Amino acid sequence: MTDTTALVADTICRTVELGVTITGAAIAEDRTWIDCRPVEADPTCPTCGRPGRLRDHVDRVLTDLPVVGHPTRLRIQLPRFTCIDDGCEVTIFRQRIEAVAAPKATTTRRCARWILQRLAIDKMSVSAVARALGLGWNTVNSLAVSLASEFVAGH
Ligand SMILES: [Zn+2]
Repeated sequence: MTDTTALVADTICRTVELGVTITGAAIAEDRTWIDCRPVEADPTCPTCGRPGRLRDHVDRVLTDLPVVGHPTRLRIQLPRFTCIDDGCEVTIFRQRIEAVAAPKATTTRRCARWILQRLAIDKMSVSAVARALGLGWNTVNSLAVSLASEFVAGH
């Protein structure tokens, strides 16, 4: 993508606010796949805080907000690093993208917020939310339960 195309895509999809930039997109089975990568590489080891050495890249797929009514997946190409500190318990780690998603989450933070808003404010059904996101009923239901528990617990 040219810089201008990427800027337009990042502005429309608001990925500009998440610290990732769009590198490509595709449609497969009614899902919109958005490829992106972090704008800045951050090699900081989450355990020891020292900078690691670039090893390779891995894809992390996250359910994101529907784009123009279609279920959407972000496919983020994340750099993976080797920790250079022999005393560190971590050997390999991938870059964290805290603004996009919690470390083990399968949906983006903004999508998690969207799910709760649709259920709590718009009184949408779990089935309707699941259909909009291209997820199963059980997945959305357990996401909603865990998000609500986190909220109640004050995290
Ligand atoms: Zn380390």
